[in-house]
Amino acid sequence: MTEPLKPGRTLGILGGGQLGRLIAQAAKALGYRTAALDASAKSPALQAVDVPIVASVEDRDAALRLAQACDVVTLEWELIPVPVLEAVAAARPLYPAPSVLATIRDRLTQREFLSKHGFPQTPYGAASTAAGWKYPVILKRRTHGYDGKGQCRLNSEADAPKADEVLQAPCVWEKLVDFKAEISVILARGRDGKTSVYPVAENVHRGGVLHATRAPARIPDDVARKAVKLAGEIAEALGHVGVLAVEMFLLHDERLLVNEIAPRVHNSGHYTLGGCKTSQFEQHVRAVCGLPLGPTDMLGPAAMVNLLGDVWEKGEPRWSALDGIPGATLHLYGKSEARPGRKMGHYTVVGAAAEAEFARADERLAALRR
Ligand code: AMP
Repeated sequence: MTEPLKPGRTLGILGGGQLGRLIAQAAKALGYRTAALDASAKSPALQAVDVPIVASVEDRDAALRLAQACDVVTLEWELIPVPVLEAVAAARPLYPAPSVLATIRDRLTQREFLSKHGFPQTPYGAASTAAGWKYPVILKRRTHGYDGKGQCRLNSEADAPKADEVLQAPCVWEKLVDFKAEISVILARGRDGKTSVYPVAENVHRGGVLHATRAPARIPDDVARKAVKLAGEIAEALGHVGVLAVEMFLLHDERLLVNEIAPRVHNSGHYTLGGCKTSQFEQHVRAVCGLPLGPTDMLGPAAMVNLLGDVWEKGEPRWSALDGIPGATLHLYGKSEARPGRKMGHYTVVGAAAEAEFARADERLAALRR
């Protein structure tokens, strides 16, 4: 498909989470109709689209119904079964292609892809037996482990019994990395292979879950250039179309190791919504619909803080805690039930107050919590 998708046509999204919701909102602003598939009618994206289809993303027939209601299809979740993606791709243009997901969705094949192309990463292996692990290690489920779920850290062989639960499913082991900073590169690659990259973001994780991002990252220019080059080469090697995020560790000696690739819009790119001339969500829609990519310049320094369900622990957050922060915007995902660790929303601060807000994120979350 070479022609750009015309306004008024329909973009379909496999998956109904907050990423799908924000993609749908961006697609609507570009004049498209939207459809999404998710098992829950109350999911963030299904509340936001013109054509909600309520069924599991693992349901091939339902995915085909979505495809038939659309002109172009994309996804917001990488764990959709590859046969479902192949069926959709046979019916409508699907970006990214099923082959990209087949490589990425399993942490072992993702690491093998990185290794085949010589991209730098920590020592790793399949974790069926403890043989060959380089302690300290982190064990990660090969699929369905994200946001710190399905992961376990072991300092030495003596910790091995702690691994019994995660090892119920196939895992990879990775040598734990002693990093100076975590960064991510968000880029978009169009159907024509042209790419456009955002300023490198610096991320803080808590318990394996993203806590806060600031952009631009406080790293030397040559390291930022290296990170951008690495991410571009990964997108190219995958033949990816759409937004792609590459999370990396910056080591004390300034080397970079790839931690994880996400073949989709990413939480660490939320700062671009309000923080850049074109958000990652609009850029993704542009890429998959064949429109020219938009400018990625920042509108000011930006900070993004995730609002997890924990903030709701004592009831409705005290939203007035966000009042008076210059350049602050609140985004809620429309989830009715707040559970600890569940991503409920985020707020961004763009402009002169961003840096101080990044430093003060914990204080602000405590104030929101009542
Ligand atoms: P992941 O789900 O792979 O993105 O892991 C979530 C978070 O756990 C990362 O952002 C890091 O903070 C931490 N982490 C994951 N893998 C490693 C590793 N090999 N070494 C050190 N920290 C890690």
